[in-house]
Amino acid sequence: MSNQSIVLEGIDDVDDLISNEEEENNNSISHTHLHQLVNKANKAFRQNRFEEAINCYSGAINIKPHHPVILGNRCAAYLRICQFLVHRPASDSEYRPLSGLDPTVHAGLALKDADKMMNLQSDSVKAHILKADALILLQRFELAHDIVLSGLQIDPSSVHLRNLVRMTCTTMGRNNHEITLRTDDFDCTVCLKLIYEPITTPCGHSFCRSCLFQAMDRCNRCPLCRTILFISPRTCSISVTLNNIIQKNFPEEYAERKLEHENLTIMGADLLPLFVMDVVLPCQKLQLNIFEPRYRLMVRRIMEGNRRMGMVTIDSTSGSVADHACEVEITDCEALPDGRFFLEVEGRRRCHIIDHWDQDGYRVAEIEWIQDICPAEGTEERLDLEDTVQKAEAFAKSWMRTAQEAAQGDQVRLAQLLKAEELMPTTNDPEHFSFWLATLTNRRPSQRLDLLRMRDTNERVKRGLIYLKAAEQFCTTQ
Ligand SMILES: [Zn+2]
Ligand SMILES: [Zn+2]
Repeated sequence: MSNQSIVLEGIDDVDDLISNEEEENNNSISHTHLHQLVNKANKAFRQNRFEEAINCYSGAINIKPHHPVILGNRCAAYLRICQFLVHRPASDSEYRPLSGLDPTVHAGLALKDADKMMNLQSDSVKAHILKADALILLQRFELAHDIVLSGLQIDPSSVHLRNLVRMTCTTMGRNNHEITLRTDDFDCTVCLKLIYEPITTPCGHSFCRSCLFQAMDRCNRCPLCRTILFISPRTCSISVTLNNIIQKNFPEEYAERKLEHENLTIMGADLLPLFVMDVVLPCQKLQLNIFEPRYRLMVRRIMEGNRRMGMVTIDSTSGSVADHACEVEITDCEALPDGRFFLEVEGRRRCHIIDHWDQDGYRVAEIEWIQDICPAEGTEERLDLEDTVQKAEAFAKSWMRTAQEAAQGDQVRLAQLLKAEELMPTTNDPEHFSFWLATLTNRRPSQRLDLLRMRDTNERVKRGLIYLKAAEQFCTTQ
């Protein structure tokens, strides 16, 4: 630890516990004890008795191991001790030897607490600040820099994070003499990289197009000066002059930024961004209203790419994203002035989800495309399938006529039926036909998921017929 000028952020004070009434009633003795311990620890912290504070926080953590506030406070105490040790003049230890106190050990313990805190609350700005502090004390500046940047994605206006980013940048520059820092005049103050596709706001500030609209998903103010902005991705164009200057002066960095951007909008063939809502079947059409910030970001990226995303449901048995999804194409996209999107989508093809992870708040999946297993030409199974499909087609047609007659007085139902009839595929593509058949009646999500998982066309057609016949009986008995 040689760096004498390390200034850490966000550790001047600790947070107090906020009472939770329900908890108090449930478990009053240990709850009171927990509060006493944390209050005592916070008092010790504020009087610079950090070791005592750590002992009390540790006691509290024994009672309640997964409390982000207590973990964050103990982390801050470790960091303060560590900072004290780093900045202690060498002459001090001649009078007061340090009994086994090692700054690296304390920074390591701080890092563990910050990590736990971040696992509990991945969008906590405080956790990002504390983790970056710990990494800086461990002299892992590049990693600290990355953590600060992802923290700034959550809150671009955090003063602590802004100070930390300056700090890590200069330290990295100092530690690695080969990196000569370009002046940051052309940096976006949101992502702190070279501006890509610059947009200059009416208040005169420039940002990457994607950064500005991502920030505006949370609030419609300039990320730098907080002026309220009345612009939208629709009405806003890129500053051509600024873009030319950037492209001419920093060609390599510009190319890198372009690639980075394309990796987000044009995904690999086996990657699919996911909209987690409901089971959609191929050939099904539906309308979506996109208002959540994370999905607005996803839709903007998709619209710059191939206009396709996966629709998936939460599997009620596992509580996680279901193992099968349907790729939908955005056939119509209306960007509303308030930043929402109104979409019309159409189911295209099915996939099996191999793995999925979080990317900027939404899910991305690694997938494999699946199709029904079609029996070979001339086999008995094939003849059986063709026979089933022919009979199903005839039945569907007569069902459609009866249903339309029955719906004469009901304009909405009639319009639905006419639309469904219009979409009827030929039986040349039995798989497509089987999905159309199944969408004629309203199915529960679990039933639709079953249909999506199935790889046997014959089975699906038969299932569709059972549903239709059940609906018919229901109609006639009404
Ligand atoms: Zn940017
Ligand atoms: Zn501004």
